[in-house]
Amino acid sequence: MNRKKIGIIGGTFDPIHYGHLILAEYSRTVFGLNEVLFIPTGTPPHKDEEGISSADCRYHMTLLATNTNPHFIVSTIEMKRKGTTYTIDTIKQLKEENYSVDYYFILGEDSLLEIHTWKEYDQLLRLCKFIVARRPYTDKKFLMDRVEELNSLYGEHIYILDAPLIEISSTQIRHRINMGLSIRYLVPEAVERYIYKYKMYV
Ligand code: ATP
Repeated sequence: MNRKKIGIIGGTFDPIHYGHLILAEYSRTVFGLNEVLFIPTGTPPHKDEEGISSADCRYHMTLLATNTNPHFIVSTIEMKRKGTTYTIDTIKQLKEENYSVDYYFILGEDSLLEIHTWKEYDQLLRLCKFIVARRPYTDKKFLMDRVEELNSLYGEHIYILDAPLIEISSTQIRHRINMGLSIRYLVPEAVERYIYKYKMYV
């Protein structure tokens, strides 16, 4: 029997934007994933907690952004956990609950390049596969060398995704709202409406 393949994209999603959605959809189609699980962080270990929107708001925006894609699912697994959440704990929990699934962790190269700061990152790199999207800020050669190094150490689990470079970040969106600039076409319309309705990022 073929094992099910599930992609995981974890993030603060503050707010979720088309960069995340395009990354997830490309990963799904290129790697033949059955579905992609969006996991908004609870208390993010790598971001300054101050100024981060509530987990509830980020969860709602993620639901609004993904509900038109039948392959996208939003998980509260990290939001439900008390205190700081770590990817390794999430992956271990998912793997324990679903033996017959292969997990593909989807992330941008900025995240991969700091993976050595993540809890038990060596074990994490052995436990699941990684799909890495280019982002416009770093040198391609630097990324390729790092991927090669990690692959030789931890079992050839990292793949680089061939997808368009999308120069959108949540930081940029928050900044644009704060400056009174348009965010149209950077986030789904439903997310845009939610942001304005609840006067977020002003
Ligand atoms: P911020 O600007 O607040 O740091 P972000 O836009 O990077 O946020 P996150 O929620 O931190 O969004 O991202 C979750 C994951 O999605 C990370 O692995 C990040 O690298 C990746 N990602 C976000 N935006 C893009 C994009 N435009 N292209 C490729 N990957 C992206």
